[in-house]
Amino acid sequence: MMEFIEQIRAIVGEKGVLTGDDVRSRPSTYWNHQPMQAAAIVRPASVAEVSACMRQCHEHGITVVPLGGNTGLVEGTACEPDQIMLSLERMNTIEQVDEVSRTVVVQAGTILQTVQAKVSEHQLMLPVDLGARGSCTIGGMIATNAGGFGVLRYGMMRERVLGLEAVLADGTVVSSMNGYLKNNTGYDLKQLFIGSEGTLGVVTRAVLRLEEHQTAETTALIALHSYSQVTQLLKHLDRALSGSLSAFEVMWGDFFALNTGEHSKLESPFAASYPFYVLVECQGNQADELRQRFELALEHAFENALLEDAVIAQSAGERASLWAIREISEPEERFFEITIGFDVSLSIADMDSYVSKVQGGLAQLASDATLLVFGHLADGNLHLTVGLHTPVDREAIEHLIYEGLKEYGGAISAEHGVGLEKKAYLAISRQPAELALMRQIKATLDPQNRLNPGKIFD
Ligand SMILES: Cc1cc2nc3c(=O)[nH]c(=O)nc-3n(C[C@H](O)[C@H](O)[C@H](O)COP(=O)(O)OP(=O)(O)OC[C@H]3O[C@@H](n4cnc5c(N)ncnc54)[C@H](O)[C@@H]3O)c2cc1C
Repeated sequence: MMEFIEQIRAIVGEKGVLTGDDVRSRPSTYWNHQPMQAAAIVRPASVAEVSACMRQCHEHGITVVPLGGNTGLVEGTACEPDQIMLSLERMNTIEQVDEVSRTVVVQAGTILQTVQAKVSEHQLMLPVDLGARGSCTIGGMIATNAGGFGVLRYGMMRERVLGLEAVLADGTVVSSMNGYLKNNTGYDLKQLFIGSEGTLGVVTRAVLRLEEHQTAETTALIALHSYSQVTQLLKHLDRALSGSLSAFEVMWGDFFALNTGEHSKLESPFAASYPFYVLVECQGNQADELRQRFELALEHAFENALLEDAVIAQSAGERASLWAIREISEPEERFFEITIGFDVSLSIADMDSYVSKVQGGLAQLASDATLLVFGHLADGNLHLTVGLHTPVDREAIEHLIYEGLKEYGGAISAEHGVGLEKKAYLAISRQPAELALMRQIKATLDPQNRLNPGKIFD
């Protein structure tokens, strides 16, 4: 291995290779804080260097794990001591912002927040936004087809990627740097790499579709008595706000109570407690008109018994406070000894029934378990956290959550991917013929199984 690393050093230079403590000082994955195990972190500075490194690894039978910001939540970057991490962190240039076509060309190691800040200088926005924005990279977001807060209006990463460049396991560079919305010239190869979690190629560059910057937003926190109010409110607001609804984030009562209770620095703006809360936001460019339309829509919702109470943010600070209730994680960390998080999708109409069944099953498995539920409801995406004070059989809980999706035709991963964490359950969401085709594609692009092997499936 030492000799091999020297050959890689000859390609990427001294700065391009980290070994020893420089590797071990990094956490293994987002959840696993044990020292990273890779033989080396290789940090190429150009696509040519990525290609040369991949060719070298291919020839020597060395396994490669692509690395972005390491914020992925499904152990997709787990690495063994005889494998190398290929980090894109030195490929972090924003190459071009095209104000007319509303696109940005960016290297894959660029941090999301950096791209957001850059394009906003051009009165444009990259509307895929998520809590890890300060660390996650464009390459990692493409590899996981990241979602986040604006999916309802702007779609997931897949909808943002117009073109990309990827390096295959044998070093071949596939340049599909299309910059147009329409391009039906044969197979859309970029789609192969989006959501492939680093198993089919290393994404090195991308052309991303931007939107006109939205200068105004209106945000409200709404309290509701029943799940049927939640679903009716979504339809009502989507209609009334005619395309400007950009977030509809639901919080079940227990989640909200923990995040605004004694273990939290945040407080509920409501005097009473409710079983459901929704954080709603709409975006536009005419602040007064947007606000009027928003207030009118909420008034109508109230008159038609679609909500019980609501507060509208009056300032950027108040908006941030409302969002914090949805995003804060400290109360969970403080209150429970153990938390296990899940990210599933199913039809909006089935969510309440699914959650009730999971709650029932959980009470039988562990009497001290609490189920906290929140998520991007309008996208059909729920996050469930099981909070525990004493250890339980994790597999039994995973079984409960994932097997429970079967009767609803749900998916075991809505936006975080499969990685190592969920691969045992993949057959719940995918047909045998689909799995067979996935394996065929993997075998075609990476016949030696050297690129992030064992992630998604064995
Ligand atoms: C606080 C927090 C909030 C989050 N919120 C959301 C959310 O709302 N929505 C959502 O969808 N996700 C969310 N995530 C998870 C999300 O998947 C990641 O934040 C992000 O997409 C991963 O980017 P990364 O650069 O950190 O990738 P990494 O974690 O480094 O890698 C993720 C996977 O992609 C592969 N990979 C990385 N870079 C490349 C590349 N250039 N080419 C090929 N493969 C590559 C890796 O091998 C791995 O399999 C959240 C994570 C955190 C920590």
